Amino acid sequence: MREAKHSCGLVGVFDHRDAAAFAHLALHAQQHRGQEAAGICTSDGRRLSKHAGLGLVSDVFNAETLATIRNPNAIGHVRYSTTGGCSTRNAQPLRFHAGDVPFAIAHNGNLTNASEIRARLENQGITFDATSDTEIIGHLLAANDDISVDSIACALDQLEGAYCLAILLPDRIHAIRDPLGFRPLCIGQLEDGSYAVASETCAFDIIDAEYIRDVQPGEIVTIDKTGLSSTRFGPTNLKRGAACIFEHVYFADPSSDIFGENVHLARERMGRQLAREAPADADLCIAIPNCARCAAIGFSHESDTPFGRGFTTSHYSGRSFIMPDQAERERQVRMKLRVLKDVVRGKRLAVIEDSVVRGTTTRTKLNELRRAGATEIHLRVASPPIRHGCYFGIDFPDPAKLVATDRTIEQIRAFLEVDSLAYLSTEGMLSCVGMPGETYCTACFTGDYPIKVPEGFDKFAMERPPRNIQ
Ligand code: SF4
Repeated sequence: MREAKHSCGLVGVFDHRDAAAFAHLALHAQQHRGQEAAGICTSDGRRLSKHAGLGLVSDVFNAETLATIRNPNAIGHVRYSTTGGCSTRNAQPLRFHAGDVPFAIAHNGNLTNASEIRARLENQGITFDATSDTEIIGHLLAANDDISVDSIACALDQLEGAYCLAILLPDRIHAIRDPLGFRPLCIGQLEDGSYAVASETCAFDIIDAEYIRDVQPGEIVTIDKTGLSSTRFGPTNLKRGAACIFEHVYFADPSSDIFGENVHLARERMGRQLAREAPADADLCIAIPNCARCAAIGFSHESDTPFGRGFTTSHYSGRSFIMPDQAERERQVRMKLRVLKDVVRGKRLAVIEDSVVRGTTTRTKLNELRRAGATEIHLRVASPPIRHGCYFGIDFPDPAKLVATDRTIEQIRAFLEVDSLAYLSTEGMLSCVGMPGETYCTACFTGDYPIKVPEGFDKFAMERPPRNIQ
């Protein structure tokens, strides 16, 4: 069970006869980035067609629905709501008009000045249909008679926070990454030479596209009949970036290359570094499934501790993140994981987690191991303690509910009921990824926010009814 959720995943395919089908496959590959809603919008060169709904990609699309949107240009979106609640009207891509020109937007991230811009737009008489900050970007763009790279750059200059965008127009797609580059967005090329964009490269593998490069922070990439072109926007003198380190720690698919390197290998290095910083005297190294497996392999190799499997996972127990309360979530964890009793009985275990959020789920899993007869449990976490909230597209619980807020390591150890506990250091984590430390956001670990978050910022403010209908 995942205790922190992705905000979203994007895809775009331009000028390919199977664009909608490829967008559909690419969304499947990125399902881990959002499970609440899915949608695809296509264009035939003049009009846009959309199909979207609540649920998994497989719930929303079938051969029949895909046939209704069969056009050569497509963008798609999988959603987890960090703002805007779970509602069909928030299912992206969202459609707008600039003058007579239809366009659609798919967005990954969170704006930190969304409420302020929305209030301004409402004062100008604009009515909002949805409650997501994506709609704000749509209305800013729709204020023009047409959409050009200049009018997009002008709208983007008003935004603060994290955003990757795929914008579909009848004759082109724009792929955009915010100036600090919080979330990944990459460009691929299909066998026939047409282009695709996606949040993660795992989306390219499934449609046989070759990864070409990342959309750079502060770049608008335009894909049209003439090929690719690039325009820079935003400040030119930024002293730092904000690539989300948590994408490498936990979120992105291990097969993806993001921020210039493979996710599995980065996690394996984190496991190795963890073993150097905090070795454990153990008979067996196991991962709390499934996300921590890459780090556990690294820990096992570095510490020369045999790697084994402590749990099996049921694929049929439903989606635990929608469980309304803690008791239900814990019941779900027990339904989902089954301990391999004969493997762990009588063993001293090094248990590797990629991260610990609330701690309650981790404690449930560890208790299962204890009940199965493990004699010692040494928990090693392949990232630092999470002590701060995220305002840039990842839904952590309220900081008051994070296990590491206001607890010492010893207090966390006691809470989790393990024999020993150690976390990877921030420096150790950053030593395992390829770009300089100042290129990453580490705020949920360090509190060092890359942009100023407004006092009392409420990322769920958008879920409240618009002022004009209160
Ligand atoms: S606060 Fe954490 S989860 Fe949010 S963008 Fe920064 S590193 Fe990523």
